[in-house]
Amino acid sequence: MKNIYNYILNLFFPKKCINCQREGSYLCEDCLSLIELNQINYCACIKNPLKNKLVCDNCPKLISAVFTIFNEKQYICQKLFLKSKTIPDLNAYFSYLIITHLKNITNINLDNNFAICFENEDVESIAKNLSKFTKIPIKNNSKNILFITKKYPSDDIFKIIKTLNAKKIYIISLFR
Ligand SMILES: [Zn+2]
Ligand SMILES: [Zn+2]
Repeated sequence: MKNIYNYILNLFFPKKCINCQREGSYLCEDCLSLIELNQINYCACIKNPLKNKLVCDNCPKLISAVFTIFNEKQYICQKLFLKSKTIPDLNAYFSYLIITHLKNITNINLDNNFAICFENEDVESIAKNLSKFTKIPIKNNSKNILFITKKYPSDDIFKIIKTLNAKKIYIISLFR
C-alpha cells in the first residue's frame, strides 16, 4: 500500500535534486559526486589541534578520535544538512558518506561492541538512520561509542560523554 502511495505521490510531486533540480531523486548522482569528504583529519584537541593525527598526548582523555566528515565551506553539504530537516530521505546520504569516510580513514571494525549516541535533536535523525544502515544500536552503554554531532567541539559534547561509561568514544563530527 505504501508503494502505491509513493508511486502516486511521485507522479504528482516528483523527487527533485536539492542542488540542480533534476527530477528522479533528492540528490542526483552528479551532485552526490560533487561532495568531497574531508581529507585532513585533526586530533581532538580544542586549541591548536594537530593535523593528520587521530589523537595526541594533550587530547581530551575520553575521546579516542574525532572524525570530521565534511569541510564546512562546502556549500552542498550545508544544503544537504539543511534540507534533511524537511526531507528525511536525505538522511541515508549521510549514513553512506559517514561510512565511506570511516572506511577511508581508519580500519576500526564496527562490530557489536559499538553503540551510537548523538548530541541533540539536530543530528537525531542522522544518527537513527546510521543505526538502521549499520545495525549498530542507539544506546548509552557500550564499550565503544560512535558519538554523532554537528560540530566538534562543544561544551555539551563534553557534558554528555562524561556520563557515558565507555572505553572508547569516537566522535563523528559532520563539520568542524
Ligand atoms: Zn543534482
Ligand atoms: Zn590532540
